[in-house]
This record gives sequence, structure tokens and C-alpha cells, in this order.
Amino acid sequence: MEQHPLYLGCHLSNSKGYAAAGRVALSIGANTFQFFTRNPRGGSAKEIDPADAQALLGLCHENAFGTLVAHAPYTLNPASSDAKVRDFAYRCLGEDIARMEYFPNQVYNLHPGSHVGSSIPVGITQTATLLNDVMTGSQSTTVLIETMSGGGSEIGGTFEQIADLLSRIREQSKIGVCLDTCHVFATGYDVKHDLDGVLEAFDRILGLRFLRALHINDSLFDLGSHKDRHARVGEGFIGLDALRKIAHHEAFSGLPMILETPNEPPEHGEEIKLLR
Ligand code: FE
Ligand code: FE
Ligand code: ZN
Repeated sequence: MEQHPLYLGCHLSNSKGYAAAGRVALSIGANTFQFFTRNPRGGSAKEIDPADAQALLGLCHENAFGTLVAHAPYTLNPASSDAKVRDFAYRCLGEDIARMEYFPNQVYNLHPGSHVGSSIPVGITQTATLLNDVMTGSQSTTVLIETMSGGGSEIGGTFEQIADLLSRIREQSKIGVCLDTCHVFATGYDVKHDLDGVLEAFDRILGLRFLRALHINDSLFDLGSHKDRHARVGEGFIGLDALRKIAHHEAFSGLPMILETPNEPPEHGEEIKLLR
């Protein structure tokens, strides 16, 4: 069987540009990375400089990078019962999907949202409707739904909820899942002691073919806490051994694996070394 290299990276700032973020990735031994498409807590988007985007694509090509992961802002909530919040989600998603064509064939990850006051099924319906409205047959980007920790009114805390959402999306070839190890552990999927069992459940409920990226984070809280608090690799309840097994598991072969641990890039480089 073909052996893929490990595509490991971390979340990086693109405030100095995309190619600059790529150079930071290279300098810490990463061969993929994640970036926000716009201000994560606001919503304004900086114009993308086509030359800068090209420079990043060149750097990725020359250094055999894996798929890059874009992350939608946290303020994007398509499941909200507030029409103003949904309007922003609609505009933001539409713009981001268009802007992603500066980086063809990569992935765009989003949180499926919080229903804040209605119900999970209503929230799922709203998110699916919005995705079907903004996703086009011609986009090259695959939209990923992130597995969430299921706190509060958050959607996506179980594989069943994500399967329900995915099944309603018209462009089945342009939708997928990003599995966050901290989030699934917080929900109660024991990736520490029973990784194969979790993968079996994922495959049965969702289908492993939809798995397109990994957020590889340790967890500050124990199994089933429903708390979304990332820990550095080896400093949480999942632990280095289990995270290393995840990174090297054949089910995840070829996928971009992104650290979202509370660290600066040089320390992320150390974490990447530990996982490799
Ligand atoms: Fe996220
Ligand atoms: Fe995440
Ligand atoms: Zn998180």
C-alpha cells in the first residue's frame, strides 16, 4: 500500500500574508497549516493579494505540503434563531467559498453552529439550508463540518447529528468532516483507550470517506466533560501515546493534521516532532 507522509501543522496567523504563514510553517517542520479566512471574532475580511496566494501555492508545491485547512470565524452561526446572525453567516460563507478559489482544492472548516433557543433538529435544518444555498457545483473547495464538544446548544456533538446534516447536503462530493480529537473526547468518544471503536462508530454512522482533516489537540478535561478546552500534546487527558497513535493510524493517512494547542509556533514545532 502507498505510504503517505504525515501532514502535520498548526494554526498560524496570516496577518502578515499567506506566503509568510507558509514560511513560518516550513520553519517549524510543518507541511500543512490552518488559517482563519477573516477576523475570527469579528467578521471583516482582508482582501487577498493574488500574488501572495500564488506565492503560498508555490511554496506548498515545492515542499510537498498536504492539504491546507481554512477555518471559518467563530462568529459564523448558521444555526442561530436570530435572523441577523444567519444573514451574516450567509454572506460570510458565500464570500469565503468564493475567496477560497485563490487556494483551489483545499478544505474550509466550520462549526455547525449553536441553536441558542430553538432545538438541535431546527438548527441542523437551518445549517443545511444555508450550506445548500451558498455551495456551488463549481467550487473546488470541500466544506468540512467540525466535530464539536456538544456543550450548551451546540450542534455537532455526536456523529449522528453530523451525519444528519451531511445527508441533507446536495453537493455530496464537496462536503466532509474535520475530526477534533479534543472535542470528540469531550463528547465521550474514547480516542485514548478505544481508537478503533471510535473509528468503527464514525465509519458506521458517517462513513470514513467523509473524513478529510484532523484537529489534533490534547484535552484539559477528562472523557465526556463536554468542555472545549485544548491542552498541549502530552499535557492533557488524551496524552502523547494516544495522540501519536492517532497521527500514525492508517485511517488518517494522507489527511492534514492541525494542532490547535495553546502554544506559539516554535513550541508547535516541538509538538510536531513529538508526534512524528
Ligand atoms: Fe474549530
Ligand atoms: Fe478544532
Ligand atoms: Zn476546540
